[in-house]
This record gives sequence, structure tokens and C-alpha cells, in this order.
Amino acid sequence: MILVVGGAGYIGSHLVKELVEKEEVVVLDNLSTGHREAVDQRAIFVEGDLGNEQDLQKVFSNYPIQAVMHFAANSLVGESVVDPLKYYQNNVASTLTLLKVMKETNVNKFIFSSTAATYGIPNVEIIHESTQTKPINPYGHSKLMIEQILADFAKAYGFQYIVLRYFNAAGAHESAVIGESHDPETHLIPIILQHLLGQRDKISVFGSDYDTKDGTCIRDYIHVTDLASAHILALQALLTEKKSAEIYNLGNGLGYSVNEVIGTCENVTGVKANVEMADRRAGDPARLVASSQKIFSELGWKAERDLKKIIADAWKWHQTQRY
Ligand code: UDP
Repeated sequence: MILVVGGAGYIGSHLVKELVEKEEVVVLDNLSTGHREAVDQRAIFVEGDLGNEQDLQKVFSNYPIQAVMHFAANSLVGESVVDPLKYYQNNVASTLTLLKVMKETNVNKFIFSSTAATYGIPNVEIIHESTQTKPINPYGHSKLMIEQILADFAKAYGFQYIVLRYFNAAGAHESAVIGESHDPETHLIPIILQHLLGQRDKISVFGSDYDTKDGTCIRDYIHVTDLASAHILALQALLTEKKSAEIYNLGNGLGYSVNEVIGTCENVTGVKANVEMADRRAGDPARLVASSQKIFSELGWKAERDLKKIIADAWKWHQTQRY
């Protein structure tokens, strides 16, 4: 049985939908940002908090957990700058409680959701796992701290783990049964699509004077279903002991500027956007694009879905959004 912590959240719920096809799944989520309706009915759902040792002990004693996949974190860069306590409390302290209970119950396989924010402002065009990590905000620091803790747990206690550093997760399940729903929404693609649906009067582009081809920031957008398939491969690699301490980037290797994303949304939906140029948003690097060559050569994973597919699936979801 696999424990998915944060399985009611955006990325966790998409992973659960794929994982229930192969494994028995228990989801633990405190529903602080997740949605109960997003959890596939084939999974067992436990409402509880990662930072609460008793909630965790109950789960580990009630179910024969073989491995843990951890998606329960706060993930907004800007918020982490103004409220670092929240980020170190939820992303570091609570994760440490989870790792402690895992150690006590002899569960030693762990898949960890990390982030491109661990790299800070990279001085390379394409980011490899060996690129220097130098976070520029508490969110990135909080994730890198857990990566360090995992490396130490591996050496000292024989922990086996795979860290997945996501670039920009986007899109929705093809069925449009689940998708992205944050409150407040801060991410580019949902904001554009909400605007195109008439739910916002304009889109603000945060910065048009970056040193990029059109002056707007470049990101590597990756379909949430591709992220889910990478987790399944990583889990298999841990369960079969093929891998025991690895870090992989997850991106599709292509960068798109904010203007290009807006243009693609207009093309896919056939609706014209009202766009205003605005000031830069604090903490945004000009360009974040991944090499995912390592996970391709070691686990055979690559992104199958391009930006158009990401936007088409997100558009379907936003038109019928259930939660
Ligand atoms: N962005 C923007 N307007 C918005 C939201 C985002 O111009 O209303 C930009 C943001 O500055 C960044 C890119 O879109 O360059 C992606 O931002 P998002 O918040 O989606 O993801 P992040 O890269 O921060 O993880």
C-alpha cells in the first residue's frame, strides 16, 4: 500500500488517479488547500495533518505502508517571502515529523516533490540536476532543506528516496474531472483562462523588460499528467530497488515566454485576451528551463504533452470546473 500525503491537492490528486490503477492507495490530507472531491474514490481517504504525530501514527499502524509520496506543502514563492514561518513549519518541520514516524515504523521508501526554486537564479540556459542550488526565497530553501535531510537519512538509516524537482506544473486531467483550483489563484495559465472565460477583466504581465527574447519571463510548463507518470516510474524504481537516492528534474526542456503562453491560450480557445504590461513580481528569475535528460536515460521518462495540450486540457477543466 502506498501513502500519498497531500493527495487531495492539485498534483497529488492527479498522481492518485493514475496510481490507483496499479496500487492500493491511502491519501492523508488536511484539506487546507486540497479538495476532497479531487481524490479518486478508489483511494482510502484520511483527513489528518502531516505535522500531527498521532495522525501519522494511526495511518502507519492501520495500513501496511510500503512507500510514501509527499505532496503536502505550501508552494507560493511570494507568500513564502512574507510568511517564512508558515513555510518552514509546514514544509520542513511537518515533513521531519513524517520522516520520524517513517523511521520509527520502518518504512524507508520516499518520493519527494521538490522544485525548480531550489536553483534560484541559474546562470545557465538549461538547468541540469548538477546545476548549483542556491534558492532565493524561503520556499526554495524549505525544499532544499528536506533534500539535505533525505541525503543524511539515506546515509545514516538506509532511507531510499527519489527527489523530483518540478518546473511549472500545469494542465488538467484529460477527462476534466479533476484540475487546478487554487484560492486565490496566482498561476499564469489558470489566470489567463479565467480571464478568457470572463471571470477576470484582464491579464497583467509581470515584467516586460527581462533579458529574454520578448522581455517576458520564460518558464518550462509541464503537464500534470506527465508529472504523475514520472512519479509512477520513480515509485517502481524504488520498490524494485533499482534506485535508492536520486534527484531528477521534471520539465519538457522547452521554454515559453509569458507572451507566448498568452498567444497559445488565444489560439487554443479562439478568444482574444485583454493584456496589460505590469511591474515585475518580486523573486521571479527571467528564465527557468529544465533538462530532463537524466530521468529519460535512467527511467525512460519524458514529457508527452506539449503546451497546446496543456492549455486544451486546462481549458476543458475551467469551462466545467467542479471544485
Ligand atoms: N505571471 C504573469 N501574470 C500573472 C501570473 C504569472 O505575468 O498573472 C508570470 C510570472 O511572473 C512568471 C510566469 O508568469 O514569470 C509563471 O508564473 P506562475 O505563477 O504561473 O509560476 P512560477 O513560475 O511562479 O512557479
